[in-house]
Amino acid sequence: MIDKTATRKPADRSRAEPAATQPAENDPEYLAVQSDADVRTARRSRVASLVLVLVLLGVALFAVWSSQSTSSAARSADLASKLSDYYDQADRAVTAEESLERKYRLEPGPGVRADYDAASADLKKALDLVARNGDQGDREQASRVSAAHQDYRSSISRLFDAVDRRDTSLALKIDSNEVDPKFVAIAEAVHSADGSHHETSLSQLTQLRHLEELQGWLTPWVFLLGLLLALATASVTRGHRRLLDEERRRALHRSLHDALTGLPNRTLLFERCRRALAAARHTGKTAGLLLIDMDRFKEINDTFGHHYGDELLKQVGARLRSVLTGGDTIARLGGDEFAVLLPDVTDVLAATDVGAKLRDALETPFLIDGVALDVEASVGVVLSGEHGTDPTTLLQRADVAMYVAKAQNLGVFAYDPSTDGHSPARLALLGDLRRALTANQLVLDYQPKISLGDGEIIGAEALVRWQHPEIGLIFPDGFIPLAEHTGLIGPLTSHVLDSALAQARAWMDDGRPLPLSVNLSARSLLDDSLPEHVADLLAIHGVPPELLELEITESALMAEPARAQRLLETLALMGVRLSIDDFGAGYTSLGQLKNLPVTEIKIDKSFIMNMTTQPSDALIARSVIDLGHSLGLTVLAEGVETAEILSDLMTFDCDVAQGFYFCRPAPAAAFDAWRASYSAGTTVGRVELRPVDEPVEGMGGLPT
Ligand code: C2E
Ligand code: CA
Ligand code: CA
Repeated sequence: MIDKTATRKPADRSRAEPAATQPAENDPEYLAVQSDADVRTARRSRVASLVLVLVLLGVALFAVWSSQSTSSAARSADLASKLSDYYDQADRAVTAEESLERKYRLEPGPGVRADYDAASADLKKALDLVARNGDQGDREQASRVSAAHQDYRSSISRLFDAVDRRDTSLALKIDSNEVDPKFVAIAEAVHSADGSHHETSLSQLTQLRHLEELQGWLTPWVFLLGLLLALATASVTRGHRRLLDEERRRALHRSLHDALTGLPNRTLLFERCRRALAAARHTGKTAGLLLIDMDRFKEINDTFGHHYGDELLKQVGARLRSVLTGGDTIARLGGDEFAVLLPDVTDVLAATDVGAKLRDALETPFLIDGVALDVEASVGVVLSGEHGTDPTTLLQRADVAMYVAKAQNLGVFAYDPSTDGHSPARLALLGDLRRALTANQLVLDYQPKISLGDGEIIGAEALVRWQHPEIGLIFPDGFIPLAEHTGLIGPLTSHVLDSALAQARAWMDDGRPLPLSVNLSARSLLDDSLPEHVADLLAIHGVPPELLELEITESALMAEPARAQRLLETLALMGVRLSIDDFGAGYTSLGQLKNLPVTEIKIDKSFIMNMTTQPSDALIARSVIDLGHSLGLTVLAEGVETAEILSDLMTFDCDVAQGFYFCRPAPAAAFDAWRASYSAGTTVGRVELRPVDEPVEGMGGLPT
């Protein structure tokens, strides 16, 4: 029997997960707090780096200023002292010239004259040095003195001539009128320049000394300040690094734990599982893995809201943990699914025992905001070695075991290879199929049903396909048996109904409503909640029940006829139409159909496809059509591939036809395009919408 909750699983997961397993990193509140701290930390570290740069810049500038100012002050002091020396030399030369001029007047002779010339040359040399080393003012001063000296020399020349001629009166005259005034002017100019440069030189030296004193005082302070600031900066940076380390640790914890319950997540479970398996290999011990899935979580989440769902998951996590011992790991895998790793367990009985204890722990109702909530869980058990040697296989097999536990209401079930057909491909596919339901990989194709009376399109059948991310498109034969075997058929049917009704609604909205047929699996007829679920979906999509037809196979009716009958009656009372699919392939007699509230029978395509070549098939088709009519049923022939088949069916008075001859099953958009171009009553609408529908290799032959 199919668990009521199992039927509703896809909605359960898709709706419960966003609230329950949202990682903390995506939580806006968490992000806000986190980014505030990040911003503060980053700002502090930026400021610290800036301060460090400024400090280094300041110290460097101080060093440059210090050396520049000292050397420039030393250069000016040196120059001033040199100039002062040159003027001093000039001053002495002028004084010598004057005394030699006097001496020549008293004792003329070539020796005195030569001395005079030498003194005069000394003056010139001193003035040259001034002009070469001094500034613009000095150069002008030197050239002025040189010119005056030139003039003075010519007067001296005439004075010495008068002396040589012993013309004393002329000599005196020249001396007092020319030589003396000119000499005084030169001597004063040179003397005052000498004095002022001497003073400049002294003041420059004083400045240099002050500067050196200042620097001597400043340097240790500047370096001390720099050192303190650098230390402060280093401490801020260290603090920042500590914060980063802390943040990294937190991120690591977040990436390995479930945000809601704080329990390890799938990644951490896998890691610990790997370690436990390695250790088990070493020591010869056995590790156990238990997969726990809650049975009534969806109802609680739907009825009370996510707050209750989340709170319940937290409490469930805590209770499950309380059963375990120190070395065991309990993880939340997502949704309402938990896993327990027992690194050392004696045998399968002991592991199953822990599973039973985990279930028992959930027995007392959970109290949330004063509301007592009851939950149950199904537990799948696997052992290392016996059921697998790697975490992936073990978890997949625990999954299979858990689904058997759930589907057969066993509570706890240890993996049994016979329950999943020994097929690793199938096992892998099972895990994928569960994901496919939530990842929207199950898509619907639509195939039209054509009324043979007027050629109108009177409906369409929804046919599910699995758009597998690696394998590609898988046709129903490749996964429906798998789904039926593992309890996934409930969620799958629910998903197909939901998508088909959404499409029916879209067609209504386009102003071209079209009845849709959905296939029910045999197991769906044993699910008592089906009518209510169908009613819910019709209401959600706002589709009238007449637009929905459910196709049921004969075999489904044979399993528990009384129960199936009751269920079909409920559905028929709701206004949903019912059709018997694949008629003729099983053992139902038309007489058995008499009491069923069905309106249509579909002749199995195996009879129709070979009608034109197998007279017996044609005979069967014809009798089914006649008998169906006698019971007041509409008769549909499926598998109509050729115009001959179509024309035979028309002569047999068949009501409706479906088959590649008109249109292959196609996605909604292609179906719509076909529908738009189809002209009733002609065969123009025949198109090939998809390359031949061939089941994916290896997927069609899985055991049922
Ligand atoms: P079915 O209900 O008998 O669906 C008709 C099948 O015949 C479809 O195969 C369709 O593609 C194919 N068919 C239609 N016209 C022709 C034709 O002219 N020639 C031939 N050779 N084949 C034709 P498909 O899509 O592979 O589906 C196979 C079966 O899978 C379906 O048989 C149905 O029993 C099952 N199935 C499909 N969708 C669902 C679903 O949503 N739920 C359940 N439980 N079963 C489904
Ligand atoms: Ca069908
Ligand atoms: Ca069929």
